[in-house]
Amino acid sequence: MRESPDSVAKKIKTMPTDPARIRRTDPGDPAKCPVWQLHEVYSDDARKEWVQSGCKSAGIGCIECKQPVIEAVLEELKPIQERAAHYAEDPTLVKNVVAEGCERARKLARETMREVREAMGLNYS
Ligand code: SF4
Repeated sequence: MRESPDSVAKKIKTMPTDPARIRRTDPGDPAKCPVWQLHEVYSDDARKEWVQSGCKSAGIGCIECKQPVIEAVLEELKPIQERAAHYAEDPTLVKNVVAEGCERARKLARETMREVREAMGLNYS
C-alpha cells in the first residue's frame, strides 16, 4: 500500500507471463498469464479485447500489455498513499485516533458490563 510507484511498476514489469511467449513474436494465451488476472480487475472491455487479440496474435508485447495495469494500480494507490503520507508526516494524528478509539471502546465495555450485571442481578456498588 505504501510502496513507491517505481517499486510497484518494477514488480509488475517483472511478473511472469505466459511461458509460451519466449520471443516478442511468439503468440500467447492470456488464460495462462497472471497479468491477465490483473486486466480482469483493472481493465474495461475494450482493453481486455486489446489484450486478448494482441496476445494471441503476438500483436502486442508483454511490456506493452503490462503498462495499462501499472497505470491502473498506481492510480488506485494514489489516494491511499496520499492519506498515508498525511498520517506519516504527523504521528500525533494516529495517536489521537487510537486514543479516541480506546475511549469509545471503554465506554461501550462499561455500558455492556453494566447491562450484564443488571441482567444477572449482580450489584457491586
Ligand atoms: S501479452 Fe499480456 S496477457 Fe499475453 S502473455 Fe504477455 S503479459 Fe500476458
